[in-house]
Amino acid sequence: MSKFRFDVVQEAFKKKAEDLADYSNKRPSDYFGELTFNREKMCKYLDAQAFKAIVNCMDNGAPLDRATADKVAEGMKRWAMEHGVTHITHWFQPLSDCTAEKHDSFMESDGKGGIIETFNGKSLVQQEPDASSFPNGGIRATFEARGYTAWDPMSPVFIQDDTLCIPTVFIAYTGEALDYKTPLKRALKAVGDAALPICKLFDSHVNKVYSYLGWEQEYFLVDEDLYAARPDLMITGRTLMGHSSSKSQQLDDHYFGAIPTRVAAFMRDLEIAACRLGVPLKTRHNEVAPNQFEFATIFGEANLSNDQNQLMMNVMQNIARRHGFVVLMHEKPFDGVNGSGKHNNWSLGTDTGVGLMAPGKDAKGNLQFVTFFVNVLAAVQKYNSVLKASIASATNAHRLGGNEAPPAILSTFLGKTMTDVLRKLLEVPSETPIEIAGKKGRSLGLVEIPEIFVDNTDRNRTSPFAFTGNRFEFRAVGSSANCAGPLTTLNAAVADQLISFKADLDKELATGKTLNVAVMDTLKPIIRSVIDVVCFDGNGYSEEWHKEAAARGLDVETCVPKMFKAFTTEEVVEMFTRTGVYTKTELEARNEVKWEKYCKKVQIEARVMGRMAMNHIIPVALEYQTSLLKNVSKMKDVFPDEYKNMSAGTIALIQKLNKYIEEIRTKVSAMVDARKEANKLPDGYEKAMAYYAIAQSLAEIRRPIDKLEEFVDNGMWPLPKYRELLFIN
Ligand code: ADP
Ligand code: MG
Repeated sequence: MSKFRFDVVQEAFKKKAEDLADYSNKRPSDYFGELTFNREKMCKYLDAQAFKAIVNCMDNGAPLDRATADKVAEGMKRWAMEHGVTHITHWFQPLSDCTAEKHDSFMESDGKGGIIETFNGKSLVQQEPDASSFPNGGIRATFEARGYTAWDPMSPVFIQDDTLCIPTVFIAYTGEALDYKTPLKRALKAVGDAALPICKLFDSHVNKVYSYLGWEQEYFLVDEDLYAARPDLMITGRTLMGHSSSKSQQLDDHYFGAIPTRVAAFMRDLEIAACRLGVPLKTRHNEVAPNQFEFATIFGEANLSNDQNQLMMNVMQNIARRHGFVVLMHEKPFDGVNGSGKHNNWSLGTDTGVGLMAPGKDAKGNLQFVTFFVNVLAAVQKYNSVLKASIASATNAHRLGGNEAPPAILSTFLGKTMTDVLRKLLEVPSETPIEIAGKKGRSLGLVEIPEIFVDNTDRNRTSPFAFTGNRFEFRAVGSSANCAGPLTTLNAAVADQLISFKADLDKELATGKTLNVAVMDTLKPIIRSVIDVVCFDGNGYSEEWHKEAAARGLDVETCVPKMFKAFTTEEVVEMFTRTGVYTKTELEARNEVKWEKYCKKVQIEARVMGRMAMNHIIPVALEYQTSLLKNVSKMKDVFPDEYKNMSAGTIALIQKLNKYIEEIRTKVSAMVDARKEANKLPDGYEKAMAYYAIAQSLAEIRRPIDKLEEFVDNGMWPLPKYRELLFIN
């Protein structure tokens, strides 16, 4: 029996959370963003000069002087104290993969034995947390040990409970990024800067290009008390053992099904909490696996949208506990049913409101769309390995290559319409306009995009990077990941491709060609190079695709520690340094962190697996075996002549038990020995490779355990089973 006091925990969560019942009669638009220090609050709590300065800082990146920062801090403090706030924290995203916060109260000595509440510009703008305990891949060993956090004014300050949270970057004193946000911001700048001069050729009014993110967060819910009785779920986030339930997802009756009442209540509370924090959760539904659900937000500027995802991952957990649930963010908490991803819907758009991944209003707009579209394909092809590496992790590995999205091959899905458009463009003269079909009466049979296209793109659920009418959906990202990792790589790769495209385009333009002809002449060789390589509309799960992808030269590696090596190839290091996104030192350091994290995650799983096998499973199997042995010996007492016949089945069971018990013992002991050997390896990569083998062996240990679960007395089985964990009543 579990000794976990979930009733006490739940009580604490109830006390901690604000009463959301007050909001049931209000409209979301009445309280959207009420816990964020947004422009509306800035206008109210700052004087005209400070307001102008902070807006200039947010919109144009202008620096904020100390006196203005003091005024902004003072305004924030006034607003926050009206909400009962007593503390502030810099809120950042270190490479430990969870957000970090250290709370300081507003309290300051008044010098006369009393206290006053203060908050100044200096503590708003910069702080020095002790960086030594955060993963840094050796950056601090070779440089200064200190790190600092610096305010990111692009993401609004927000209130959680009694604390004012200030989103910040986290960097070493020498400037190296120690977090996810810093490189993301660099990549967003790089892609914006690279796209701008191209957009200007189409419309001189464009002054800025934004990168957008719309995330869809998949997750599982489990009952808190069942969770507490599963050491593997509590410690590793996934079940390391467990026979599949007789019924799981085979009837397809969960996807888009009616949302269970308890879950609906959780979702409602979460939506209110999100709305107050300015996070526009738009969509909620049941996902494919039992107990699996999804939230999707309205897309927004990528840096902010990613902060909101990080914040929501925490808030979801807090609100779930109030409802007696635990949220599982792990990519594969249960074997044999679908895992969870976090689709990153990604696009670029201009400050004039034009989406660059959607067909335009006229032929010129369509040409601009095709330009960006083709360059994205080229970037995904050229930086195929590193893009895949950007979504790789010990936990996502269980989802990668499984018979569900994503396959471990990063191809792009275009759909029939766009495939036809690209093929047609290769055949026609470069000056041919790309029309929206139906707009000009009769079809001319040239290059056309159907008018209803955007809302009706065909879907392919097996593609890890799919075009869906006005955006690309990067589906390979794992549910527990910080989107900033993959988005940094994607935006940097696209930035780099756009820079090289623009250089080629300029050469064409210099020969006196019109924009249309010059663009098409530059695009055509790119289209030819991608259309039969990275573009693939077929079934990404099929065996044949794996063979074909390898023949096409796409990366088909499935070993996660090996995948990380893609970050430090010469070509990739050059791409990241050219775009100013990562230095070589940062890339090398991050790989060290990744290998180390991989080892530790597998090590923890292996320990839990070993201990559960030895002190949960084997004792119970022995106990059951003993009861069977007693049965046989009693049979012998009562039926001395017939007992052998009568007990044949029971004896077979005893032998079967023995076989599995011995198999578990042998495999656990081999795994423990392998761990000892792995731990001796000094090199990060070598050690990760050794742990990769250990990770595979866990599945082998699991098999006999799951077999035992099938026939050991249900009353003795020490763990909640899948059939209990996966169904919420
Ligand atoms: P589906 O599951 O059918 O793919 P959802 O409605 O769950 O669709 O999620 C779609 C996501 O795509 C939402 O987060 C939405 O805001 C986002 N999105 C829509 N248009 C764009 C765009 N142009 N750029 C980025 N994200 C977008
Ligand atoms: Mg969805």
